[in-house]
Amino acid sequence: MAQILDGKKLRDEILEELKVKIDTFEKKPSLCVILVGNNDASAIYVNNKKKTAEKLGINSLVLTYPHDVTEEELLAKIQELNDDDNVNAILVQLPLPGHIDSKKITNAISPLKDVDGFTAENFGKLFAGQKPYVYPCTPKGILLLLDKYNIELDGKHAVVVGRSNIVGKPMAMMLLNRNATVTVCHSHTKNLADIIKTADVLVSAVGEKLIEDNMLKPNCVVIDVGIYKDSSGKTRGDVDFEAASKVASFISPVPGGVGPMTIASLMLNTVELFCLQNKRSSGT
Ligand code: NAP
Repeated sequence: MAQILDGKKLRDEILEELKVKIDTFEKKPSLCVILVGNNDASAIYVNNKKKTAEKLGINSLVLTYPHDVTEEELLAKIQELNDDDNVNAILVQLPLPGHIDSKKITNAISPLKDVDGFTAENFGKLFAGQKPYVYPCTPKGILLLLDKYNIELDGKHAVVVGRSNIVGKPMAMMLLNRNATVTVCHSHTKNLADIIKTADVLVSAVGEKLIEDNMLKPNCVVIDVGIYKDSSGKTRGDVDFEAASKVASFISPVPGGVGPMTIASLMLNTVELFCLQNKRSSGT
């Protein structure tokens, strides 16, 4: 039976340590989240981020806008936040409504306050082999989880299913930087099952029922990023967890695997940006 990669446990350990560090700061770090429209899932994610930040002593501000807010209004607010020394980290909750250019909004954030690591400057640095101010939260959390369980990446074949800017692309690059041999798959990939069968480490970030146990290489490591609700309303990942647990050596559950690690990374990134802006060592 596979060992479970317990994201909740590691999140709690990371946040406990981070709280001790934040308690030593005279001035507290601050995170500002921009939430647009009435997307229920986004509202839940933002609320979780706010609650976690507050528990740690991070000042957190959520700015909510109606669905029909204009791009100009959002850009003006981001400029104001960039110029505000009391704001260390800015996050725009995605997705944004269709009339707003997400790339333009993301790139308006100062790279030094870009807590998701999504601006062209931070993203470009990651892909150019330079150190971005911070790494994107979900792939960062996944690497922290793999490291916690001493999972070797060097020379391993890592297969990433999904090529979004949020998960798949930065994940592939971060695995490559750790000397894995990386294959990226997407909806146009032919023979997906054959490719997955060769994965020592599989990261699946799709959001639908996709991966069965017979597609896996025995003793592989499975990281399930996907989230969807099945017909009974239960939260599920891309991978058939029960069956895959009998084939893999390590597997991350949904919920309780990658999700908590994404939040932990967001808090780490907020403190890292605060420390960079205040020219002190974050030690994270
Ligand atoms: P996304 O932007 O919708 O990307 C999904 C990716 O899956 C796309 O690259 C798509 O290919 C690929 N894909 C779709 N169907 C496929 C198929 N049948 N075979 C192979 N590839 C397929 O989503 P995302 O933002 O990356 O998120 C992916 C999932 O992870 C979602 O369920 C999301 O909720 C979850 N998520 C979880 C966390 C967390 O913290 N737990 C964080 C972020 C995301 P194309 O590019 O060709 O369309």
